[in-house]
Amino acid sequence: MTQQHRPPAPPHPALHSITVTKLLRDEIHGLPAYDPGADPEAVAAMYGVGEVIKLSNNENPYGISPAAALAVQQLLGQGLGQYPDPVGTHLRTALARRLDLASDRILLGNGSENILELLCQTFVAPGDTVVTQTPCFGLHEIFPMMMGGHVHKVNLTPSFGIDMPAWLDSVATAPKLVIIGNPSNPSGTILNRNQLQAIVDRTPEECVLVIDEAYYEYARHDPAYPDAFALLQSRDRPWIVLRTFSKAYGLAGLRVGYAMASHVNLIDALHRVRTPYNVNQLAQAAAIAALDDTAHVQHTVGATISERDRVRQALIERGFRVAPSAANFLFIDTGRTALDVTNELLRRGVIVKPWRERGYETFIRASMGLPGHNDRFVDALTQIC
Ligand SMILES: *Cc1c(COP(=O)(O)O)cnc(C)c1O
Repeated sequence: MTQQHRPPAPPHPALHSITVTKLLRDEIHGLPAYDPGADPEAVAAMYGVGEVIKLSNNENPYGISPAAALAVQQLLGQGLGQYPDPVGTHLRTALARRLDLASDRILLGNGSENILELLCQTFVAPGDTVVTQTPCFGLHEIFPMMMGGHVHKVNLTPSFGIDMPAWLDSVATAPKLVIIGNPSNPSGTILNRNQLQAIVDRTPEECVLVIDEAYYEYARHDPAYPDAFALLQSRDRPWIVLRTFSKAYGLAGLRVGYAMASHVNLIDALHRVRTPYNVNQLAQAAAIAALDDTAHVQHTVGATISERDRVRQALIERGFRVAPSAANFLFIDTGRTALDVTNELLRRGVIVKPWRERGYETFIRASMGLPGHNDRFVDALTQIC
């Protein structure tokens, strides 16, 4: 809308905002906002820093595959005047072949967070329980709360281990959904095969088990990382495994993720809830090309894993406690209030994420970037702490 066509301001803005508040669903009043982290341009302007380093969103610092970029350019040349394929036939076919799974058991999302949202809209009614972990990926908590669900979070042990007795007790409480990040975001830690199997076996069949594998392409190089898909394939119970093109494939800006499910009728339910054209045409084309360019993923994942291990070692040598990570980020105990540390890092042009959950207020999460950027982060953090 242009300046000239803006509608007149309402006569009593304060009154209207009271009305809006009264109209809100109960679940929305206390709903926390998702924290996307600081904006690099704003940080550069505010602190006069030349090069701002963004290590706050677990993106792939090597970016999109050249083949995917080419696919996007070709589509731009053809024009984008028509709606995209509403069911992403070509991408689902490519995924089905890669995963050896029928394509009607695969669902595409506008990012995998879209599928998390759909799962909550489809299954979580007010008063239902959702079990997940602490520290927690924000949306694993926000989406269930948005639907009126009660979120029960299982803690890590103080040494970043999986608290199996707590997990087994929690999944036995008849939750509607169990959402497990494997690896966990923000800790980067994994459940190994025995742990995952024990939790799967204890989770009642009247529950949808969700394994969020946003960092699968990094974690699968860890010998202890379980093949959840293979493990679940042998179980006749409702389950969903989520993956994304946003992290290892570098397509965060295009928004595309996918789900593999136990049953066609689970996918069908999600289809009824989603918006009809939830994955745009550029994202579909880029994902097909990115999936094919296995060399790009292999190269960038390998480089990021070796950086992660190098940076973790460097931080430990400087006296920091760092969780063992199977992903492309590190969860670091700074020993100080995280918000103070991240503000001081911002002044030095480095954006990482402060943690705010109870028990983790001294932790930050740092994504692994290019080697030189990681060095700048380690140097700045060492100066500050
Ligand atoms: C990044 C992330 C996602 C969301 O990824 P998109 O596909 O970009 O929506 C989902 N789950 C976890 C745990 C993540 O860290």
